[in-house]
Amino acid sequence: MRAKVNQNIDLNEYNGVWIIAEQVDKEIHPVTIELIGEGKKLASQLGKETCVIIAGYEMEDIAKKILHYGVDKVIYLDNKLLKEYTTDAYSIVLSNLIKEKKPEIVLIGATSIGRDLGPRLAAKLGTGLTADCTKLEIDEKDKKLLQTRPAFGGNLMATIICPKNRPQMSTVRPGVMEKAKYNEDIKGEFEIISPILFENDIKTKFIKKEKNSNKKLNLVDAKIIVSGGRGLKNKNGFELIEQLAKVLNGEVGSSRAAVDSGWIDHIHQVGQTGTTVHPDLYIACGISGAIQHLAGMQESKYIVAINKDASAPIFEICDYGIIGDLYEVIPSLIKSIQEKNILEL
Ligand SMILES: Cc1cc2nc3c(=O)[nH]c(=O)nc-3n(C[C@H](O)[C@H](O)[C@H](O)COP(=O)(O)OP(=O)(O)OC[C@H]3O[C@@H](n4cnc5c(N)ncnc54)[C@H](O)[C@@H]3O)c2cc1C
Repeated sequence: MRAKVNQNIDLNEYNGVWIIAEQVDKEIHPVTIELIGEGKKLASQLGKETCVIIAGYEMEDIAKKILHYGVDKVIYLDNKLLKEYTTDAYSIVLSNLIKEKKPEIVLIGATSIGRDLGPRLAAKLGTGLTADCTKLEIDEKDKKLLQTRPAFGGNLMATIICPKNRPQMSTVRPGVMEKAKYNEDIKGEFEIISPILFENDIKTKFIKKEKNSNKKLNLVDAKIIVSGGRGLKNKNGFELIEQLAKVLNGEVGSSRAAVDSGWIDHIHQVGQTGTTVHPDLYIACGISGAIQHLAGMQESKYIVAINKDASAPIFEICDYGIIGDLYEVIPSLIKSIQEKNILEL
């Protein structure tokens, strides 16, 4: 089915910056706070208001807490059928609200849910969507949203505009934008809407949720990450990476090559099509430093690379480089960390 594009719309009818909040089991995803930080910046450049929309069921208190992040308004959509995310239910209620209220910008997190919801919403609204943005700005001349994202395999950055349709919609990568600050005081307005929704509107059925990892991995907020790449040669190599991560109290990351080889789950992948991270310390083990990997970790405070090839591109961006076989370097690193009893870096 082809999406219908809106034609001849009056751009002046559209107003304000909207953030679609994400919640799972009534827990707000951190990207929502990052989008609020960015949305407030854009709204102030436009001289317009920031509004957060959150959908769920029996979670008014949680929705109200968003006002602590300094937004002008929170709209909470409450319906039993919105308790769990489904593409149909969420895209119906959100597209109806957007058609009615006409925001000029809509921001969504580029999470698994956001990557599913964004295109469906854009198609229902007949507007454009720039996926996976890493930078947003307002054009000083015509006030249009400039949406920047990696293109052509990450080899260049493309800036995209949505000149003729509204809203201007972007999904934004988690971990890239600065989080909004929490304030004790609340100034904004709170509204509850109970949208009309029928079970027949939803073609899929929620059966159950299964977590694919025992441990809750949080690469975005990790202070120390030890990542393994194809240089590990096999799945067992990640045991060594885990040992180093453990003595440093860090998390385990990986390159895409390690994920594609089936050695580790995709949730550990760092890079353009994985997670964007900015820890205090990033240790890249057996990772060459392809541009798509660097796109997700080059903002780390300190980068250490362990690679046996002195000409590997990772050495061009690291702060400390160790040329050697990771199977010799890592055990001796672990030993000296344990001997010296380094608890804090
Ligand atoms: C559209 C697109 C999106 C992509 N997204 C991502 C992404 O999100 N993340 C990502 O990582 N990649 C991504 N890639 C893939 C990327 O281009 C590279 O292929 C990938 O990063 C390579 O992974 P690697 O460094 O582990 O493997 P390689 O490039 O094969 O490097 C392995 C390194 O290990 C070293 N080595 C070998 N043995 C040892 C040893 N014993 N001791 C020490 N060093 C050793 C080698 O010298 C080599 O430098 C993407 C590609 C495309 C086209």
